[in-house]
Parts: sequence; C-alpha cells; structure tokens
Amino acid sequence: MKKIKKIEYRKNQDLRNYCTFRIGGIAKHLYIAKSKQNLIDLINYCTENKKNFKVIGLGANLLFDFKQTNKIIIVNRSNRFIKKDNSIYVSSGMNLSEFISKCASLELSGMSDLAGIPATIGGAIVNNVGAFNSSISDYIDYVVAINKNNPSKIIKIPKTDCKFGYRKSIFQSGDFVILSAKFSLPHETKNRISKDIIYAIKRKNSSQPLDFPSAGSIFKRGKIIPAKAIDELGLKGLKIGGAMISPKHAGYIINTGNATSKDVIELINLIEKRIFDTKNVQIEREIEIVKK
Ligand SMILES: Cc1cc2nc3c(=O)[nH]c(=O)nc-3n(C[C@H](O)[C@H](O)[C@H](O)COP(=O)(O)OP(=O)(O)OC[C@H]3O[C@@H](n4cnc5c(N)ncnc54)[C@H](O)[C@@H]3O)c2cc1C
Repeated sequence: MKKIKKIEYRKNQDLRNYCTFRIGGIAKHLYIAKSKQNLIDLINYCTENKKNFKVIGLGANLLFDFKQTNKIIIVNRSNRFIKKDNSIYVSSGMNLSEFISKCASLELSGMSDLAGIPATIGGAIVNNVGAFNSSISDYIDYVVAINKNNPSKIIKIPKTDCKFGYRKSIFQSGDFVILSAKFSLPHETKNRISKDIIYAIKRKNSSQPLDFPSAGSIFKRGKIIPAKAIDELGLKGLKIGGAMISPKHAGYIINTGNATSKDVIELINLIEKRIFDTKNVQIEREIEIVKK
C-alpha cells in the first residue's frame, strides 16, 4: 500500500479503537485526515486507484461486522473553525462538543440541546443528529461535499437539497463525502448558553447508559417508540454473549466487555422479531452495520 505524502497512515488497526461500541475488526489500511485537503487527496487517491473507502467520524453509530477489511478507512479529524459575523464555517471532522463549546464562547447558541452527543460534524450531518426539540440541521445554511461519482468537483449543497428529516439526510446514500458546513447561529449570552448545555448534558446522563460502550439508540422512533416497546416486553437486561439490552435505557445495546458483532446482531434480530410478533410493526434501525 502506497503511503500518501504527509497523511498519517496506520497499518492493521483494530477498529474497536475507532468506534464507541468498542467492537472491532481489523482495517488493513487506515488514514487519519487532519485537514480538508487530506480528505480531498485521499478521495482522489482512492478513486484513481479504484480502492473502496469509508470515511468515519467518532464511529458513534457504527457496528463493524467483519474480521478484516481491505476497505480504506479514513478517520476524519479535519477541524477548522472560522467565524464571520454570526456564521461559522466548520470542517467536517470537528468534534460536535468542541464545536458547541467554541460557539458558546463566541456567544452563539442554537446547538445546546445537542451537547454530549458523540459525533463529528460530518457524521452528525449524515444522521441529522438531534435531541429534545433540536437537530443539527436547524441552523445549517449549506454543506460542502464531494460526490464520489464526480470526485473532481467540490459542491455546495444548500440546506433545502440536503433532504433532512428525523435522523435522515441525503448523505446517508453514501454517495458524498462531507468536507465542511456553514451554520448561522442566533446570538445569546455565554451564561444562558452554558446553563442550557449543562441542563442538556444532565438530562442525557440521567437516561443514557454512558458507563458502557454502545452506539447510542439502536432503533429509530417511528410508529412506535422502540425503547418503550422493548421495556414493555420485559427485555431490559437480556444478554447474548457480551451484548446486553441496557437495564437503564431499553433502546441501547451495551457492550459489557467482550461483545462481538454477532452477539449484537442476534440481539437486534431478536428485538425486531419480538416487536413484529407482538405489535405487527417493523422497527427501523438507527445503527449502521458496516460489512467488509
Ligand atoms: C452514547 C451515545 C449517545 C448518543 N446520543 C445520540 C443522541 O442523543 N441523538 C442522536 O441523534 N444520536 C445519538 N447518538 C448517535 C451518534 O452520535 C450519531 O449517529 C452520529 O451521527 C455519529 O457521528 P460520527 O461522527 O461518530 O459518525 P460515524 O458513526 O463515524 O459515521 C456515521 C455514518 O456517517 C458517515 N460519515 C461520517 N463522516 C462523514 C463525512 N465527513 N462525510 C460523509 N459521510 C460521513 C460514515 O461513513 C457512516 O456511514 C449517540 C451515540 C452514542 C454512542
């Protein structure tokens, strides 16, 4: 594997160290993109050499389901942050929490409900992350991306074309790599923002099982609230191998130490079947299972 000049390359990496579930699989080739230019160079390199690749953020919504992959894994850590008036131009690899606190220090609000959600800006946009009554798309003006089918062109996609919905966006097609985004945020005092952030984090800490590795909610809300249905079925605490339905929040599967992707998938299938059998509803997955 040819190293690409000046971009950090790591060989044979266990992906448990690159996701919040702490469940791995070996990536034979992994790069750390530290700038937008690194991302562009890697996309061009992969395209020219016909290599499959996957850009990941914090791996907070991923379950790697393979022993080893030849796919090139690009860990996005590009993190430029530029303020102009009430607008922020931010690279896609910036950590969402860092983004929120930088905005807060500039007296820009709007994102406080999202405090504590583990994500990069890119991953957060892909899944249109949200909490309480907010989602990341609320204050986006446009997203700058590369379409993998036409990688020589950098495109600006206005919010109206991003097809944002509940935990949804056009970027889930996998056709795009997000490079950056522009946000326009309302002004607020530091004191107010900081109170809102603390409140949001406290609410999450009280309901989410943050003391175990997980990938957040496994299922999306739809016709029913999956966590409520799982709880009603008495499935909290059910364990397969090292994977367990969290006793604290039925919508989470936690890794109690040595869970495998097979354990998690068996548990997901069991939940889906039990809900289908009892409520005749096919619940939708939020977690993404990554194959080799
Ligand atoms: C403890 C915990 C709590 C959570 N709480 C919430 C919550 O309250 N609300 C909520 O909405 N979610 C929540 N989540 C889920 C998670 O934060 C989101 O799914 C988030 O989108 C993951 O972002 P990421 O950067 O880690 O993306 P990853 O998981 O790394 O990737 C997700 C997808 O986005 C793609 N992707 C990543 N970066 C880019 C890019 N630059 N360009 C193109 N594609 C890209 C990846 O290829 C992958 O398909 C939680 C997760 C955990 C572990």
